[in-house]
Amino acid sequence: MYFNKSTIVFLDGEFVKANSVKTGLYSQTMHYGNGVFEGIRSYNTSDGVKIFKAKEHFDRLQYSASKMHIKLDLSSEEMEHAAYKVLEKNNLTDAYIRPLVYLGENMSLTPTDVVHVAIVAWKWGNLFGDEMLNVMISSYQRPNPKSCHMEAKVVGHYTNSILATTEAKQNGFHEALLTDMNGFIAEGPGANFFLEKDGKFITCPLGNILAGITRATVFELAKDLGFEVEERFFTPEEIFTADAAFFCGTAAEIAGIKRINDYTFPLSWEDSNSQLIQRAYKRRVLGSSQEELYI
Ligand code: PMP
Repeated sequence: MYFNKSTIVFLDGEFVKANSVKTGLYSQTMHYGNGVFEGIRSYNTSDGVKIFKAKEHFDRLQYSASKMHIKLDLSSEEMEHAAYKVLEKNNLTDAYIRPLVYLGENMSLTPTDVVHVAIVAWKWGNLFGDEMLNVMISSYQRPNPKSCHMEAKVVGHYTNSILATTEAKQNGFHEALLTDMNGFIAEGPGANFFLEKDGKFITCPLGNILAGITRATVFELAKDLGFEVEERFFTPEEIFTADAAFFCGTAAEIAGIKRINDYTFPLSWEDSNSQLIQRAYKRRVLGSSQEELYI
């Protein structure tokens, strides 16, 4: 699914065949999860193939690397340029782009100067399809931000996400929703979370979650559409009095939620402001003009 014998990837300044790349068995990333990455999408827009918010994603990659003491020699502009080249060389238009910064041989618990930068891409449609999601409040919490940099996109953090998603699927749900270390609602395993109540949106503040680029886009769209967004902590119980909810993320885009645990949201998706955000988001990533954004 991800690559075939002709797939080209970017690795350390060169474009090479995906199946020619070998990673070392002694990579610090492989053993201890010290690496950083991004998840980015490109869209076939009216203006050609465009990477959505490329600068924001590569800047976050730089930030994540700096938090993990990883020296990244490439600039955001250089990486953006390489990402466009990867798309071009693989004839990709609507694609998912995965830059990965991984480390060389080092079995100690200190950083290494041997840093590899890979950019791979593959064709990827809707993460969840058009289905409304059934979500389980996870028994797992997001890691305490005093134990790691939760606002950075670090390889090792995703073991927590894998545990939560696996638990949710084993219980017959599509996805998990995790609390923070204080029991407040935080985020999904790979997406941020918004509630809708009385036409307003509620989402948790930054601090215990990944600062999603889609989340920031939702703030922009809500402002343009005249909807209020409250950033505050809220408990799982508050969900059970809300009208609608959605996940948002680069891969998930805006994914409507039908049910959380036993609670089915009373407002139909078609009548919700959440759906207006979903439609505006689609138009935004496809590069439609401002006037077209909100029809
Ligand atoms: N939270 C987590 C844990 C994620 O992995 C992601 C996906 N990167 C998000 C939120 C959403 O972030 P973004 O909108 O930048 O993709």
